[in-house]
Amino acid sequence: MSARILVVDDILPNVKLLEAKLLGEYYEVLTATSGQEGIDIATRELPDLILLDVMMPGMDGFEVCEKLKDDPITTHIPIVMVTALTDTNDRVRGLKVGADDFLSKPVNDIALMARVRSLVRMKMTFDEWRTRQNTANQFGVFDEAGVKAMDESHKNARILVVEDKSFETEKFLETLKRDNNMVMPVSSGPEGITLAKEHEFDLITISLNLAKEDGLRLCSHLRSSERTRSIPIIMVAQDEDLPRISQGLEIGAHDYILRPVDQNELLARVRTQIRRKRYQDRLRNNYESSLSMALTDELTGLFNRRYFMTHGEKTLRKMETSNKPVGVLMMDIDHFKNFNDTYGHAVGDEVLKTFADRISKSVRSFDIIARQGGEEFCAMLPDTKPEICMVIAERLRKSICDTPIVVSAPEGEVSVSVSIGGTIIENQDVGIDEALKIADDALYKAKESGRNCCYFSGGTGKLEPEDIVAIQERARANR
Ligand code: GH3
Ligand code: MG
Ligand code: MG
Repeated sequence: MSARILVVDDILPNVKLLEAKLLGEYYEVLTATSGQEGIDIATRELPDLILLDVMMPGMDGFEVCEKLKDDPITTHIPIVMVTALTDTNDRVRGLKVGADDFLSKPVNDIALMARVRSLVRMKMTFDEWRTRQNTANQFGVFDEAGVKAMDESHKNARILVVEDKSFETEKFLETLKRDNNMVMPVSSGPEGITLAKEHEFDLITISLNLAKEDGLRLCSHLRSSERTRSIPIIMVAQDEDLPRISQGLEIGAHDYILRPVDQNELLARVRTQIRRKRYQDRLRNNYESSLSMALTDELTGLFNRRYFMTHGEKTLRKMETSNKPVGVLMMDIDHFKNFNDTYGHAVGDEVLKTFADRISKSVRSFDIIARQGGEEFCAMLPDTKPEICMVIAERLRKSICDTPIVVSAPEGEVSVSVSIGGTIIENQDVGIDEALKIADDALYKAKESGRNCCYFSGGTGKLEPEDIVAIQERARANR
């Protein structure tokens, strides 16, 4: 995965060294030798990752980081602070101003590439969700562009701790409970897997120093199962485990912490992962709900006209290619204006909802039903022979008029009927607009013929109950 990386350091040899390492791994590299220059380049070039020196004259790394994270343009770019200090206070301060990670000088190659790869991957994922959400926003349903990962809460999370040394477990429990987290400790991978299946965890920490098993195997298992795939994993390991840590990040673990575990660093890393997970969940949920809002009718939950036209056209073409007949129905509630005039708009809405419910229950799962607007609905019945279309249309009509609809009017219920116009498209190059027009003309005829009836185009005309009986008998005989 290639990416553009900005290196900011006031000492030129340091810049050159990092640049050479990154170029060696085929990353594109941008460089800056002061905080202000770093901010300018970041804002102009929008790199995928920033390696930022902490100690710089003038504006130091913390200040640069804070500014970049505050600016909506650059807030999504991951920042790794590079520091000569191993002081954990510094690390914690960095994570507080929004740094995504830390590297100590002299920079260890494995640690550098591990951090770079996993942060670039994280950015790509977030970018993808944001792009999708932007697309969905173009339908005008959602606008949460200003939300940042940093704004998410890091408290009240559910955390699974996989660790077989009890004094370490105690330390984790004590630290993680400071944020009101619900923490469940286990001492083996299989126990962890069982719990992960039963609970929805926000984070899992895994020791890579378990006496009886390899923690990486657990990482890999959690990554390969759908249910646990997106839960962040923090590996806990020793200095000499760096090659395995690098493997773990490759498998998909999100982060690691070295022993002896510093409590503040642990808390800071856990908070970052929890915020990111919640942020990603939010992006995904927004996307899914804006998508469904864009495609469905709010009142009835049926598909809307936009969806019907697009999907209907595709279905017509598919059926034409495979030589199969398609039924298209237009439905319009009879004298609907009366319900509104007599009982008010709210009762009219109740009628629409129940109407939609009944017709969607009377068709097959692959038939499409949509609300065209007002009290007009349409249906497309793919791969359906003409006589079956007629039987279905008649079944829809009866599902409405046979049972009164319960509403919050003084009478408690109202009698409703529907007129249905239908056509069957067979082996013809007919587009969705034309198909609906034909069905609509048939609907007009149904209204003209007295309402509460089905009328089919193509010479069939109004369906009388005895026609349906005859059709059903013929169908039975054919079978
Ligand atoms: P017809 O039998 O000829 O179809 O008569 P109709 O009264 O059903 O037809 P018309 O088109 O004259 O009236 C439709 C009414 O539907 C008018 C409008 O106020 C009402 N309507 C449209 N959309 C909604 C809605 O979302 N909710 C409610 N309650 N009423 C709606
Ligand atoms: Mg009507
Ligand atoms: Mg109407």
